[in-house]
Amino acid sequence: MPTEVRPASPDQARLLRELLDAGLLISSGVPGVYGHGEAFERVREGLDELLSREARERGAIKLRFPPVLPRHQLESTGYLGNFPHLAGSIFSFEGTEAQAAEQAERAASHEDWSEFQSQTEVTLMPAACYPVYPAIAARGRLAPGGVFVDAGGSWVFRHEPSLDPARRQIFHQHELVRIGEPAAVLEWRAEWAQRGLELLRSFGLDAHLDTANDPFFGRRGRMLAANQRAADLKLELLVPIAGPEPTACASFNHHLEHFGQTFGIELADGTTAHTACLGFGHERIVLALLRTHGLDPEAWPAALRSRLWDRLA
Ligand code: ZN
Repeated sequence: MPTEVRPASPDQARLLRELLDAGLLISSGVPGVYGHGEAFERVREGLDELLSREARERGAIKLRFPPVLPRHQLESTGYLGNFPHLAGSIFSFEGTEAQAAEQAERAASHEDWSEFQSQTEVTLMPAACYPVYPAIAARGRLAPGGVFVDAGGSWVFRHEPSLDPARRQIFHQHELVRIGEPAAVLEWRAEWAQRGLELLRSFGLDAHLDTANDPFFGRRGRMLAANQRAADLKLELLVPIAGPEPTACASFNHHLEHFGQTFGIELADGTTAHTACLGFGHERIVLALLRTHGLDPEAWPAALRSRLWDRLA
């Protein structure tokens, strides 16, 4: 059964057309999967550097991971229970020469060749902070004060085909992760929520902060979403891009001891660490900038250009 493609509002459809016409985005033919033209990518890279610099100046260590996740790790996080509709698994051919020939023949005529594919040990990355937790756990007990990690702008995949240019199937999520004592983690999240808000406003964006919930799956998911909201576990920075609703350009998640327990992350005193993460959506922020200041970054205000554009000049 083919997945339903979410339609776009007239405003979203117009923005997508303008972005493609200007060469900022490059169509792949699949909704929500785009290449980036030079100008789009230059702003995105400027943003990536700026976010990493902000984190480094506040003590973050830099870790980088590939855009695939060991399947075993995904299975441990509970993601498949909460978001079975968003996960992307990687399959590969396993079979005989005759089956390979059959597969190639069917593929050449665009018929179903899935029966020759078996699941591999990796999946696409669903959230860029996931590989951070087992990596930190493997280092042994944390030093007092815990750790702050900049996981960078990594590709993540969410299977939600849409014609809204701000809702992509594959995009860069810049994750900052704090792991430590409960009070320190909570304080970090509050501090970065404010810093994130000020940062987006300093770009001239009409940003505001709100509590939110994840798009949990099914009936049980509606309960999870209500609990998440009631406990203030998720905050979002919302910016208008293309109507009708403002778009979440960053989200702040407080996981309490979920990942600490799952991956066995211990504090200096041997108790379980708390974690929080902050994910900036690179492409959504670039879209918000293009929508707010115009599709030609050369014509943006000089102060903004000097932060996100002129570094390559
Ligand atoms: Zn995260």
